[in-house]
Amino acid sequence: MLRPLRVYQPTNVTEASAELARLGDDAKVYAGGTELILWLRLGLVQYTHLVDIKRIPELGELAWDGERMHIGGTVTHRHLERSAEVAEHLPLLQHATGLVANVRVRNVGTLGGSLCFGDPHSDPAPVLLVYDTRVKIGKHSGGRTMGLETFFMGPYETALEPDELLVELEVAPLPPGMGSAYLRAARFERPSLGVAVAAAQHDGRLTDVRLAVSCVGPVPMRLQELESRLQGATLADGQQILREAQRHYGEVLKPVDDLHGSVAYKTYLTGVLLGRALAQAVGTNGSN
Ligand SMILES: Cc1cc2nc3c(=O)[nH]c(=O)nc-3n(C[C@H](O)[C@H](O)[C@H](O)COP(=O)(O)OP(=O)(O)OC[C@H]3O[C@@H](n4cnc5c(N)ncnc54)[C@H](O)[C@@H]3O)c2cc1C
Repeated sequence: MLRPLRVYQPTNVTEASAELARLGDDAKVYAGGTELILWLRLGLVQYTHLVDIKRIPELGELAWDGERMHIGGTVTHRHLERSAEVAEHLPLLQHATGLVANVRVRNVGTLGGSLCFGDPHSDPAPVLLVYDTRVKIGKHSGGRTMGLETFFMGPYETALEPDELLVELEVAPLPPGMGSAYLRAARFERPSLGVAVAAAQHDGRLTDVRLAVSCVGPVPMRLQELESRLQGATLADGQQILREAQRHYGEVLKPVDDLHGSVAYKTYLTGVLLGRALAQAVGTNGSN
């Protein structure tokens, strides 16, 4: 059951953060509410105050500045899925946000909320990792910026302080000639495994590869060591390296046995999906 809550509706980031600082553990940021209200109803968390950030104009903005996409903290999945600029510059993000849940959740659920919730079972997170995304964080006493790879600290845990807001994501498109792919396995509502790959090749050799995986371990991650090993390999050799790297996935991603599968199943499937996504990324030949 949902207990009575007092809702604040600030109109700027400073005010929202100051309110969070004042209320301390009693308050939480409220965006689309798709996760937060569920957890409140289930009694998994308890707050007496919510700070609704949807009245803050700058958080709702989606803008292309000629080099990067700026995605405000309350931009919804649906907005991203339907944006012509996102389709043009970040087609893999458009694809991944279109896979999230259903239209009802995508209409109110925000990309910022998805990242701040820190659920490892995320479709957009690995895609944003291959795009090299920076996170702009706001607070009443100033702000800071960090790479998305350091934003995730653990399951349902991020680098945000309780009085900080995710203000904006700054996402760079892939360089020309680099293709991309996102593949997922999903048997429940959320993905059980997601892989995003961006790759370029020249004269039959891989020249630039980015690999990211979500759901397998506590946080979505880039696999930088494997990325380096794939440089200069043929596509077939690259796929073999990815298939055979199961021990590496176990050590780096730190999977556990759970309802989504055993550790052996998860590491096996990671290799299979990364190999397929690599072929697909190279096949798109920079059109993604
Ligand atoms: C039925 C269902 C199916 C789903 N299926 C999928 C799926 O297939 N794939 C997938 O990737 N995801 C899935 N999701 C997750 C979905 O992406 C998230 O529910 C949604 O994006 C969260 O956004 P929100 O705005 O509703 O967050 P809220 O519920 O409002 O907030 C979530 C958390 O983030 C914090 N927060 C929100 N915004 C900010 C901010 N700007 N700054 C600081 N803190 C903030 C809140 O305090 C809260 O702790 C599913 C969710 C549901 C309910």
